[in-house]
Amino acid sequence: MTENPNLLSTLKSYFGYDSFLPLQEEIIANVLDGRDTLAVMPTGAGKSLCYQLPSLIFEGTTLVVSPLLALMKDQVDSLKVNGISAEFINSSLSVREIEQVQERIRLGQTKILYVAPERLAMPAFNRFLLGLDIQLIAIDEAHCISEWGHEFRPEYRQLRRLRDDFPEVPIIALTATATEQVREDIVSQLDLHKGRTFLSSFNRPNLSYSVRPKVDAGKEVTSLLLNRRGQSAIIYCFSRQETEELARELQANDLSALPYHAGMATEIRQKNQDDFIHDRVKIIVATIAFGMGVNKPDVRLVVHYSLPRSLEGYYQETGRAGRDGLPSDCILFYSHADKAKQDYFINQVEDAHERKNAQQKLATMAEYARLPTCRRRFILEHFGESSAPEQCGACDVCMEPREQFDATEIAQKILSAVVRTGERFGADHITQVLMGNRGKRILDKGHDQLSVYGIAKNEDRAQLKDVIGQLQAKDLLKSSQSEFPTLAVTPQGRKFLNESQRLTLTKPKSTDQVKAASADKSRRLIEYDRGLFEELRALRRRMADAQDIPLFVVFGDASLRQMAADFPLNMEEFSQIHGVGQAKLEQYGPEFLEVIRKYLQSSGLPFATAAVLMRQRSNKRQVHEERGSARSLGRTTEYETRELLSQELTISQIAQTRNLAETTIIGHLERLSGQHVDLNLHHVLPDTDTLEAIRKAFGLCGSTYLKPVWEFLGTAVTYDDLRLARIYFGQIARERGN
Ligand code: ADP
Ligand code: ZN
Repeated sequence: MTENPNLLSTLKSYFGYDSFLPLQEEIIANVLDGRDTLAVMPTGAGKSLCYQLPSLIFEGTTLVVSPLLALMKDQVDSLKVNGISAEFINSSLSVREIEQVQERIRLGQTKILYVAPERLAMPAFNRFLLGLDIQLIAIDEAHCISEWGHEFRPEYRQLRRLRDDFPEVPIIALTATATEQVREDIVSQLDLHKGRTFLSSFNRPNLSYSVRPKVDAGKEVTSLLLNRRGQSAIIYCFSRQETEELARELQANDLSALPYHAGMATEIRQKNQDDFIHDRVKIIVATIAFGMGVNKPDVRLVVHYSLPRSLEGYYQETGRAGRDGLPSDCILFYSHADKAKQDYFINQVEDAHERKNAQQKLATMAEYARLPTCRRRFILEHFGESSAPEQCGACDVCMEPREQFDATEIAQKILSAVVRTGERFGADHITQVLMGNRGKRILDKGHDQLSVYGIAKNEDRAQLKDVIGQLQAKDLLKSSQSEFPTLAVTPQGRKFLNESQRLTLTKPKSTDQVKAASADKSRRLIEYDRGLFEELRALRRRMADAQDIPLFVVFGDASLRQMAADFPLNMEEFSQIHGVGQAKLEQYGPEFLEVIRKYLQSSGLPFATAAVLMRQRSNKRQVHEERGSARSLGRTTEYETRELLSQELTISQIAQTRNLAETTIIGHLERLSGQHVDLNLHHVLPDTDTLEAIRKAFGLCGSTYLKPVWEFLGTAVTYDDLRLARIYFGQIARERGN
C-alpha cells in the first residue's frame, strides 16, 4: 500500500504521529472511498483513528455511537486538545446542556459527535440527527450488537435504524472481539454486506503473560506492587468482598489503591474510577465490572487475583494493559481451589446448554493456567491465529523454562506436614515447619517436635511454595476459602500418600540456562534522562489539573520519554516528538521547552552542547545500566579519565586501561569540558592541517551537529576527531574569554 502524503500530513498535524499503525491506512482508505467497514482489531491497535482521521477529511459531521459514557468525555477532551472540534451527548449531561451542545452542532462546526445508543430511540433526537450533514457513522464496541458477544446491549439493536435513516452514509463498525460468530452477527445486523472486513492479528506484542501459583497471593501482590510504585495497575478479583479486603491490605502497605465493584454507591464508584483515570490513585482493585469505558493508556500491570471464567474475558481484561504500546505485564494467580469454586457456581446454572458452554470456557481458561507451552501462542490459537511462533519469548513459560522432575518425595513430605499439623495451617507455616524454622508460632504449637519438622531443610523456600501451588493445581491439596487460607489434603492426595504413587512436577530450569535464554529478550526501550522525565511529568500534572483533563490527554508517557531522550530545544524540534500535533505544539510546546531548557541549564553546560551530550548519552545507554541525570554529570568516572589523559595516554590507551569504549572516554571529556574543566588535549588531537580544516568546517556548518561537518569534510576525518576538536576549540574560546 502506497503512503498517501495528504493522509500522513493530516496524521502528523492533528495527532502528532509520523506513520500509521498496521491496517489503519487501509481502513481509512476504505472509509474515504465511501464504503462500509468492519474493523476487528485488538485493544490498543488504534481503532479510534480509523474514523477520527476521515472525519477531518469529510466536510460534514461524523456520528460516533459508543456505549461508554466515561470514555466519551475522555475522547472528546483528547480530540479538543488536538484541535478537533468534538462534542458528546449522553445522560451525564443536563437537558439544558444537551440543548447547548445541539445548538453548537447546528452551527455546523462539530467534526465528531459522540452519542450513547439509547439516544437513537428518542424521536426528538432522531429529528435532530436528520437535520445534520452526517457523512460517516462509526459504531464503537460493535460487538455489543451481538447476543453471542459477552457484552450484549439491547439498545444496540436500535442501530439498525441508522442504516435506514442514512442510507447513503458509510458505516464503520469497530470491535476488539474476534470470534467469527460475533463478526458475522455485526455484518448482518448492520447490513454491512457490501463493505469490507479488516481483521488484524490479536497479538499484543508489548504485553507479557505469566501465571503464578496462588499461595499467599495477597503478600505476593503487595510486594509486586511495592516494586512498581507509581505505575498504574488493575487487580481483578472474584467478589466484591475480595476487592474491598485486598484494597484495604494494599492501603495498609501504603499503596495507593481503591476498590471498584457493582455493589458500591454509583457516586463512589464513579469517583474511584475517575481518580484512577486522572492518576490520583494508582491501583484499582475491581470486579470485572471495571474496565469497559476505561481507556487509560498507561496501565502497566493487570493482575488476575482469581481465575477468570473464560479466555475471551481474560484476553479482554488483560487487554487494558499497555494501550500505549509500552511493555506491560499480565499476571494470573491460579489455584485449583479457584477453579473448583467457579465449577461450583457453574453447576448451579439451570440451562443445560448454557452450563455446558460455561464449563467448556472455564476448562479452556484452566488449561491456559496450567500450560507447559507458550501462553501467547495458546491465546492466539484460541482466536484462530495459527501462525504464531512456538515461543514468544515474553511469557513466563518462554522466559522461565521449566523442566520435569520426580516430585514424589517432596510431595510426600509436604502432604505429611499438612496432615501432621492437623490441616489447620497455611502454606507459609507448612513451609517453615518443613524447613525447620524456629519461629514463635512453631514453638508455641510444638511443631518443632513433629517428625516432619526440618525434613526439607535443604530445599529452597520459593521452590517449596511453588510445589505447594502445583499440588493444589493437581488437586492433591486444597486451600480453604477464608481470610487466612489453610491447606488440607484432598481424597486424591490421601490416595497418593497411601498408595505410594509416583508424581512428576516441573521446576524452573537452572538459573544459568534461564539467564542465557532470556538475555537477548530484554525489551527494547528508548533510554531517557530520568531526572528530566520526572520534571516533565510534574509539568504534565500541572497542565492536566489546570484543564481538568487526564494526564494522558496532555501527553502519554511515550511522548515524555522521547522528550527526555531527544532534548528538543525549539518549537521545530518539539514538533518532531511522537504525539505532538499542531494544536499541542502551540498549547504546550513553550512550557515544556522551558522545563527542558531549565533542566539543561542546571547542568552548567551551554544549551546546545548539553543537549547534544544528553542525546548521545541517551542513545548509548544500555537499558540495564544505572541511570544518572543531568545533575550527576561529572564526578568520579570522568575524573578518572582526566587523570589518565593528563598522563598523556592516548584515547585508545585510556579506553583499554579502563575497559571502556573509546567513544565513552570521549564522552567523559565532553562532559568535563562542559563543566569547564581544563584538559590536556594536545597529544590526542588530529594534526594541525586537519585541525584547521575542521575549524573552517565548524565555521561553515556549526558544531552542534557533527554529521553535516563530517559530510562536508569527506570521510578523511573521524567522528572522534571532530568531537575532540570541538572540545579543543571550546577550550580556546573560553581562554579567550568568549
Ligand atoms: P483501540 O481503540 O483500538 O483500543 P485507541 O484508538 O485507543 O485503540 O489507540 C491506542 C493508542 O494508540 C492511543 O494512545 C492512540 O493515541 C495511539 N495511536 C493511534 N494511532 C497511532 C499511530 N498511527 N501512531 C502512534 N500511535 C497511535
Ligand atoms: Zn511464550
